[in-house]
Amino acid sequence: MKILMIGAHQDDNEFRCGGLAHKYVQQGHDVRFLSMCNGSGGHHLMTPEETTARRAKESAAVAELLGITYDVWYDQDDCELEANLETRKRLTRYIREYSPDMIITHRPNDYHADHRAAGQLVLDASYLLIVPHFCPEVPAMKKAPLIMYNVDSFKYPPFEADVVIDIDDELETKLKIADLNVSQVYEWLAYTKDQNPPEDPAERYEWLKGMDTSRWNSDEEVDALTHGYAVRFAKVASRFRKELIAKYGEVRGNKIRYAEAFMFCEYGAPLNEENMKKFFNF
Ligand SMILES: [Zn+2]
Repeated sequence: MKILMIGAHQDDNEFRCGGLAHKYVQQGHDVRFLSMCNGSGGHHLMTPEETTARRAKESAAVAELLGITYDVWYDQDDCELEANLETRKRLTRYIREYSPDMIITHRPNDYHADHRAAGQLVLDASYLLIVPHFCPEVPAMKKAPLIMYNVDSFKYPPFEADVVIDIDDELETKLKIADLNVSQVYEWLAYTKDQNPPEDPAERYEWLKGMDTSRWNSDEEVDALTHGYAVRFAKVASRFRKELIAKYGEVRGNKIRYAEAFMFCEYGAPLNEENMKKFFNF
């Protein structure tokens, strides 16, 4: 299968569906990340050019770790992505050239204008992928791919977890991915949250987790924590405990500590039993 994960920025896919991406790669499927923006806005001290160059290296390291292809639209600055006709055409051509079986992206309601635009652009392109007279220079697809949304915490309208995935065996990989995004997790995002991570690489890696991952933390305990990437992935499991139990059964469903969750988008292929088995048999 060909799986296309579309984020507005480098690190959007990594934190939301990086575990699923790695699972697909391990099964021999082809996974591609697209960052629609170049990363230029993600720092408070470096210039946009320096930031873009540094993040390109970080994304290359992520691609190597996961075993995926990583595309970045280097001519698209952060904070300026628009769901306009020109970009709709660009994305339609891009998706058709790859011809994915499934796309995962942002919901179009989100705090960040780039995330909203990225989600909207995928929706705008979804039907046009099969319309031959739109962008005739790249052959239209015969049928639309399955389209899913990455998890978010926005409530109006609420995110519903149509698919949940146990990523306990991917925690290490996801933490390593976060650790590779040095300019973001230890610098820019830390700056926006008034945090001062330790300088020593081993110490800051512990800080990055936000909790002791060797011991069980109850859902209530996890819900009370506010910092760290292990905490972030654990919160997805605690939030969708009911769905995890429905999928994996009472015993395993209650034991799962880290999860990823996805919501179905109605504008692509249906999420029927066949597709559920085909794409999410983990
Ligand atoms: Zn983002």
